[in-house]
Amino acid sequence: MKSHSMEDLISLCKRRGFIFQSNEIYGGLQGLYDYGPLGVELKSNLKKAWWKSMVYERDDIEGIDSSILTNPLVLKYSGHEDTFSDPLVDCRDCNSRWRSDHIEDGKCPNCGSSNLTEPRPFNLMFKTSVGPVEDGSSFAYLRPETAQSIFTNFKNVMDSTPHSLPFGIAQIGKAFRNEITPRNFIFRVREFEQMELEYFVKPGEDEKWHKEWTELRVNWWQEQGIAKDNLEIYYVPDEELAHYSKGTVDIMYKYPHGTEELEGIANRTDFDLGSHTKGQNDLDIKAKVTKNSQSNSKLAIQDLETKEWFLPYVIEPSAGVDRGFLAILNEAYSEEMLDDGKKRTLLTIKPHLAPIKVAVIPLKRNNEEMVMKAESLKKSLQKVIDGRVLLENTGNIGKNYRKNDEIGTPACITVDFQTLDDDTVTVRDRDSMEQKRVNLNEIKSFLKKIYNF
Ligand code: ATP
Repeated sequence: MKSHSMEDLISLCKRRGFIFQSNEIYGGLQGLYDYGPLGVELKSNLKKAWWKSMVYERDDIEGIDSSILTNPLVLKYSGHEDTFSDPLVDCRDCNSRWRSDHIEDGKCPNCGSSNLTEPRPFNLMFKTSVGPVEDGSSFAYLRPETAQSIFTNFKNVMDSTPHSLPFGIAQIGKAFRNEITPRNFIFRVREFEQMELEYFVKPGEDEKWHKEWTELRVNWWQEQGIAKDNLEIYYVPDEELAHYSKGTVDIMYKYPHGTEELEGIANRTDFDLGSHTKGQNDLDIKAKVTKNSQSNSKLAIQDLETKEWFLPYVIEPSAGVDRGFLAILNEAYSEEMLDDGKKRTLLTIKPHLAPIKVAVIPLKRNNEEMVMKAESLKKSLQKVIDGRVLLENTGNIGKNYRKNDEIGTPACITVDFQTLDDDTVTVRDRDSMEQKRVNLNEIKSFLKKIYNF
């Protein structure tokens, strides 16, 4: 088995339709990618697995889906307008721009010159204008994280559901950052998706929950097929903490380009609910005048025993969908030499993440009866399997197997001449390449063991 590079993954993604460069026919746009027919399936399976573990399998978490365009006041009070920036350095010789913490030995990564400017802060948020007049008076930000709309909806969710602490709000959605140097394929991009949980706890219980969520999230990534040895825990030092964080643990993954952050788990304390409470009170003159305890703590909740109002603390596991996708692909990819001297590319992706769950292949594409049997099998499997079942009617069975190994299809079912006689089909296992003869009556229970439906 040969080790592989990022180029091998990029080439597979393009060849088989996982990921394309965005706007490619017009020369692309840096830091943006599009997910193709297989990519959209894998990505959606990853998001489904996260949602299932967060929202469906627990009774203390609700989901939301909020708008991307964000009122600037939200990001003013959250601190992003003032502090969500990276240090930018210009090379005076070749005019390229870099994040200063990505520069090694004080030299421009493009031309090697040491003639660099001093770092200056560069805000990463994208702005757009809202409404028909583009005079700058009404603008909105594209959200840089999904988290803020969880905080701004905190009361709405609390008031419309029967929860008390600890409880969480989960969201999956796009986030936008004007990264100075997008790079390493889909690892650092300007438009990406996050899977974020804000888990609200009583102050004083935050450190216990921070530990608990770190363990849960490391285990979850392993359940998605990532080897423990390829994950690392990094305790972010105080001087590197984001403005809202009291402590952050990064789950790092060994990507082909190096070991970098896959997910961050931050203890955001009551920073955000506190800031938005201040925002509410600044804007609400009446509240200032009446000054009752409740109106001065808009996003606070009441302790049922002591009757005191307090702001919950928040633990935030925040994972990147695209970085997760890349890690899963990297983990599953291998190349091997078969006995006949041919190369086999294999994606040993977990069945629940596989973009194609089952490929149904008629042995002879011109045999009408065989094709009809295959079509009807595809239809009946599609009714029970949660994910895509593919009818492969392109001929050449060997090519079909090779392709499906390469895209990670756990099982291929071949309808052949014997099927027409005795209603049995061949089921080929991706990893072992073993083939079993299974009666069509039993095919669903056979597949049930693989897909758990
Ligand atoms: P980095 O230090 O790598 O820039 P970050 O610490 O700024 O990342 P967070 O603000 O913690 O990232 O965001 C939470 C998650 O969102 C990250 O763990 C990562 O998976 C994802 N993410 C952040 N920025 C990007 C990006 N530019 N491209 C793809 N995913 C990203």
